[in-house]
Amino acid sequence: MKIFSLLLTALLGLAQAGSSGTLRIYVIDVEGGGATLVIAPSGQSMLIDSGSPGPAAERDSKRIADAMQAAGLTKINYLFTTHYDGDHVGGAPAANAVAHFDRFFDHGEMDPKWETNASGGARWEAYLAIAKGKRTITNAGDTIPLAGLRVDVVASHGSVIGKSINGGGAKNAFCNPADVKPPNTTENSQSTGVLVSYRGFTFLDAGDLTWDKETDLACPVNKLGRVSLLLATHHGFYNDQSGAPALLWAIQPQVVIANNGPRKGMAANAYERIQKINGLEGLWQSHLALATDAAHNTSDDMIANPEASADCKGHWIRVDVGSDHSFTVTNGRNNFSKTSHVR
Ligand SMILES: [Zn+2]
Repeated sequence: MKIFSLLLTALLGLAQAGSSGTLRIYVIDVEGGGATLVIAPSGQSMLIDSGSPGPAAERDSKRIADAMQAAGLTKINYLFTTHYDGDHVGGAPAANAVAHFDRFFDHGEMDPKWETNASGGARWEAYLAIAKGKRTITNAGDTIPLAGLRVDVVASHGSVIGKSINGGGAKNAFCNPADVKPPNTTENSQSTGVLVSYRGFTFLDAGDLTWDKETDLACPVNKLGRVSLLLATHHGFYNDQSGAPALLWAIQPQVVIANNGPRKGMAANAYERIQKINGLEGLWQSHLALATDAAHNTSDDMIANPEASADCKGHWIRVDVGSDHSFTVTNGRNNFSKTSHVR
């Protein structure tokens, strides 16, 4: 009887936290950093990256708290850190204060060979202070135990999966020797990438994974198959370090969301490369790219934050994935939404 009532309590707890058969994703605006909240149909939740350090951490943790409130969450189960650059892990202590993470997933020890920023060591210590004893180091090929979803780690610490997943494995016609770039030597290249799958819907978030690693995932065979939703790598191919066409065009995302900043990512060539995706149904941007002309920004309805940083309201973009093979993207600023059917 006691076991039964404990079980019932656990089930009720999940039902309250969850949203009945939907996977919900919030691309939180942290102005050119990373913070993506994934809420499984079970109610379990995972934040992928935690925004920036310093004064920005207060701003970013408030926006994470706002998304939690919108989702009806009082805590977030996991923090998943793609890599140790400031705009992905710098906000971890402030985010932990609002999200009370139980477990932490990352690609392993921070190595100053890759993370050369002068404040990298201090950020690492601050991360360890909250994560120590609760960390799980991820390798390509691992899965993350988020109940109700399948979460495959497709890249981590400079390696990518050896075997194809998600129906991938076909020879990739977009592999072009002229597009190959030399190995990247920044911490971005160590990024962990995850493919989140739910009832045929797939979402790829690869942090700031670099062009050379994207090519490893795509050539000579596309190891990832086709995906429904892509978080544009590196905030919309910032400085062209990411966004290898061989991967982008082979995985054929139906919808792309860029977590760009007002002046970070989504240059004109990134916009053009995304528009060449066969079957693209929508491009959404966290920000109007202020240095890019209007012809190379997506339509106004699909931009969450048109202002410069000083006036930014920090609106999120939300994705609701139903159990009926549809998914709807909504702009938190104006409630404009579009529904796609999973191919
Ligand atoms: Zn970044």
